[in-house]
Amino acid sequence: MNLDILVFAAHPDDAELSMGGTISKLTQENYKVGIVDLTKGELGTRGNEKTRQKEAAKADKILNVSVRVNLGIPDGDIQRTKENLMMVIREIRKFKPKIIFAPYCRDRHPDHQDASALVKEAMFSTGLPKVKTFGNRIEQKAYRPKKLFYYMQTYTFEPTFIVDISESFKDKMEAIMAYQSQLYNSNSKEPSTFISSKNFIEFIEGRSKFYGFSIGKGYGEPFYCEEAIEYNFNDLLK
Ligand SMILES: [Zn+2]
Repeated sequence: MNLDILVFAAHPDDAELSMGGTISKLTQENYKVGIVDLTKGELGTRGNEKTRQKEAAKADKILNVSVRVNLGIPDGDIQRTKENLMMVIREIRKFKPKIIFAPYCRDRHPDHQDASALVKEAMFSTGLPKVKTFGNRIEQKAYRPKKLFYYMQTYTFEPTFIVDISESFKDKMEAIMAYQSQLYNSNSKEPSTFISSKNFIEFIEGRSKFYGFSIGKGYGEPFYCEEAIEYNFNDLLK
């Protein structure tokens, strides 16, 4: 199956937290979106691998994600090895997305930075015919997506563009709340973490409002692109 969009994330729940509204908006417009989690998030303080898998499946349904893959790279140790690079390239060549997304290069969590660098390198190498990969023992063809966009996690950046998620903000929050083991839950007896406080949910809401307001909309999600993007006047003039 070919996908229109492939989102790479270090941990299950990163994609939902950073761009759940955009994913839901795109699937509502009938684009096929897939998510590739690099790790299972097994180092997380709360929950475990199994509960997070179930939570991810629930979030997929809410956002209408077509495929979700977990590469099983050790959590806390996303190295830029040839093996990891080839795993990422194999997913890109298999699904042939037109756009891929990755975490922004600077963040509080080192895994997010490592994931960012790994996907950036894969974006380049996947287009090289001499970089050989195999899927089901058949050699894959070189293929490069048109664009790599970065999403915002904890640290901020000056966005290249903002997506209006006013219509899909509800889905985003519902998908985030599917991760009950990780986020605020008044009944949980597990230790509290950076993302399990009530403040964190309010922070996500506040940030969505902030970026929405900056484009004159209710809610928004910011993205960054290293390359210049062509501007088309049609939206403003028609
Ligand atoms: Zn993460």
